[in-house]
Amino acid sequence: PPQDIASALHIIDGERRPASSGEVMDVISPIDGNVLTTMPKGTRDDADAAIAAARAAFDDGRWSDLAPVARKKVLLKWAALIEENAKELATLGVKNNGTEIGMALKAEPMSAAGTIKYFAEAVDKIFGEIAPTGTGNLGLVHKQPVGVVGAIVPWNFPLMIGTWKLGPALAAGCTVVLKPAETASLTLVRLAELALEAGMPAGVFNVVTGEGGTVGAAIAESHDVDVLVFTGSGATGRRLMQASAASNMKRVYLELGGKSPNIVFADAPNLDEAAKTSAHGIFRNSGQVCIAGSRLLVERSIHDDFVAKLKTHAEAMVVGNPLDANTTSGAVNSKPQLEQNLSFVKRAVDEGATLVTGGQRILEETGGYYMQPTILTDVKPNDFIAQEEVFGPVLVVIPFDTEEEALAIANGTKYGLASAVWTENLSRAHRMVRKLHAGVVHVNTYGGADVTVPLGGVKQSGNGHDKSLHAFDKYLELKTAWFKL
Ligand code: ADP
Repeated sequence: PPQDIASALHIIDGERRPASSGEVMDVISPIDGNVLTTMPKGTRDDADAAIAAARAAFDDGRWSDLAPVARKKVLLKWAALIEENAKELATLGVKNNGTEIGMALKAEPMSAAGTIKYFAEAVDKIFGEIAPTGTGNLGLVHKQPVGVVGAIVPWNFPLMIGTWKLGPALAAGCTVVLKPAETASLTLVRLAELALEAGMPAGVFNVVTGEGGTVGAAIAESHDVDVLVFTGSGATGRRLMQASAASNMKRVYLELGGKSPNIVFADAPNLDEAAKTSAHGIFRNSGQVCIAGSRLLVERSIHDDFVAKLKTHAEAMVVGNPLDANTTSGAVNSKPQLEQNLSFVKRAVDEGATLVTGGQRILEETGGYYMQPTILTDVKPNDFIAQEEVFGPVLVVIPFDTEEEALAIANGTKYGLASAVWTENLSRAHRMVRKLHAGVVHVNTYGGADVTVPLGGVKQSGNGHDKSLHAFDKYLELKTAWFKL
């Protein structure tokens, strides 16, 4: 039976376990600021126990040595169970992290199930190679699972992002220790229970809840973890690379922040559509989307009209209880995040930006963490608010005059995650796709994607890719066998 959310536990070696210290942490719901439940405050010993379980499960081959079709069967069963429990998972997730339910259903359990299915179907379609050595020799290239994967994931889309790591890692035959974010652990614990129910052997997928600085650091510093995959902040990403260098030089793959430019030329095919999609591209999930289009670059000739359209869309967003089906922008995940959003806006205004709309906390009487969609103009490309990721519903608008200028502004940050170009000029669209520093360029849309295309960042937005068959590269090791014939 599902765990009562009143007492979420770790899942280690196929068992529900409390923290070895017996300590728990409160899980606060951002909907009303109340304590929803508790979860184990994991210790380094808990992380080490999970890593030891994953190591043993990998080394004895109970997962990696299964015939690929047998792994596929378990993974497909798991995906089916996630779909069966989609409503329960989505609701639990929304209570935990505040994402609006309409989006959560699609982006969380349904997308997670789709990702697992995609990688499950690929399990028995991974081939090694025979090298063109000529006669007298035979060069074989095997693809083997790397080993134990440590996955540290964030709170904005725990199931979606979690399965971007789990899907290819488990399909490849690796075993996993996953640490969810402090403020969004519950659905990932449930996901691990469903994996056991689907027949995944004990120790193959473990979840340890707790603080980043304890459980996360123990995973990063472990000599028994072979691959570390992460989505989260740049500051933590930097620490993980350092921890890898200081321990066993494990592979490290990072998906970090962004300040993604959304570039609207005057010749965009439909400015109304561009304004509507751009507003959604920054304001959905209260802006807590790694690829959020948070820097809008608009050709000067249409700047004022376009800002007016955006303002209308921003003010039409329904901010409120994320469990209400009409809500289009739910709660900010936590109080510190809300306070940071507000302080970023205040600093921007103090430094000369104009607040077009929003900027305030609302519905404070509910006890929840809600913020108005916010638009700032009169922002210069190098201003703090145009350079730093807010991770909230805050859009900055910067005008430009030429394509070259738009490109220079767009590329003028340390980030390189997503981007978009709105233009009917085909040559310009292709030029921009080539020249933008970004892992993704949307053309005449914002934010669309599916599991078939890779997602990753350049520059300080990270390295490596989630999704698509390229995701296997992180979890498979090439091994050469050289024969003299
Ligand atoms: P965010 O700003 O999205 O909360 P973080 O990087 O702080 O970004 O968090 C993402 C994940 O990284 C969370 O699961 C968090 O617990 C974990 N984390 C935070 N600090 C550390 C750390 N020092 N070592 C390992 N993991 C950490």
